[in-house]
Amino acid sequence: MSVDLNSVFKRFGNVTAVNGVSVKIEDGEFFCMLGPSGCGKTTTLRMVAGLELPSEGQILIHGRDVTYEEPRHRDIAMAFQDYGLYPHMSVFHNIEFPLKVRGLEAHERRKKVHDTAERLGIAELLERKPGQLSGGQRQRVSLARALVRNPRVFLMDEPLSNLDAKLRASMRTEIKKLVSTLGITTIYVTHDQVEAMAMADRIAVMSRGDMVQVASPFEIYDRPRTHFVADFIGSPAMNMFAASVERNGGVRCSPQAFADALPAEERERARRIADSEGRLFIGVRPEKMSIGAAGGPHAVDAQVEFVEPLGQTTNVYVDAGGQRFVVVADKVSVKIGDAVGVSAAPDQLRAVALNNQ
Ligand code: ATP
Repeated sequence: MSVDLNSVFKRFGNVTAVNGVSVKIEDGEFFCMLGPSGCGKTTTLRMVAGLELPSEGQILIHGRDVTYEEPRHRDIAMAFQDYGLYPHMSVFHNIEFPLKVRGLEAHERRKKVHDTAERLGIAELLERKPGQLSGGQRQRVSLARALVRNPRVFLMDEPLSNLDAKLRASMRTEIKKLVSTLGITTIYVTHDQVEAMAMADRIAVMSRGDMVQVASPFEIYDRPRTHFVADFIGSPAMNMFAASVERNGGVRCSPQAFADALPAEERERARRIADSEGRLFIGVRPEKMSIGAAGGPHAVDAQVEFVEPLGQTTNVYVDAGGQRFVVVADKVSVKIGDAVGVSAAPDQLRAVALNNQ
């Protein structure tokens, strides 16, 4: 089932938590809302769930206006940060509960509970009470309870926040497999870019109540539209160089070599950004740059300031005439103080705006 948000606002007193969001989430899509703390992710999700009323705007599920409808009439399931498990019931009965409410036969309920528990790696915990579980186990029980009833729309708010790195990675694969096999439309809130990149069909990067860019994970990484998105996605973040467009249409930047190498399409975009009086940057991902000898053709002369070996790759921090940036190199034999030549793959240079135009 599709989910539509039409110019949705949510204000709490003088705080605008959600600032006129419009987006269509397609049937069966895995949609991630990604952004820093306080950007409005949870509030947006709670409005889709019906736990919060929008101050303005409309929410449609499967084309039907549900803006003022009770949560229980929306055919959605939720898994939130604070598990919401019944403490006096065993894990089995917690997961079984939504099936009982729907009047399923006992043998059918038992099968579904066992299948779901198996998938989420909690089959051996079915007899325990929530109080006897770790945070991560409770989180998985809450996921199981939401998924067991095969909802049409599934809402998740940081469901893996309490798991260790390894379990988190395996759980994210499991969730993704499960919901795509079942074809459930999923809206997933996270502040973890790796999680969003790995799971989403589309990501909405949010900042201060706005969806700043909504696109596929690759596009968000490859063509961030604004400085905020460029900075938020990728580790280390995209290198950004302040740039401007002259009257004759030439692009200026320090180092100028990056402006000179800008591909035609990005040059056009740079002009459009400048025309609408937006501040302009040239951006390039650290992993799309390389280090060679100083004085090389098309390279920018720089000095190595710091070297951070990470095993497979090395972060090399450089200073080129006062512009500091980082290069992710595969293999490096440079050390602090070395004079080097840094080049950027021309097809990887991007024109980036400060704000959405
Ligand atoms: P986090 O990642 O920390 O959970 P978030 O992106 O989910 O953050 P929200 O919880 O949606 O952010 O909050 C958005 C803004 O709305 C914040 O400034 C928050 O303080 C404010 N806010 C949220 N709920 C309320 C409320 N009930 N009353 C007043 N302000 C609220």
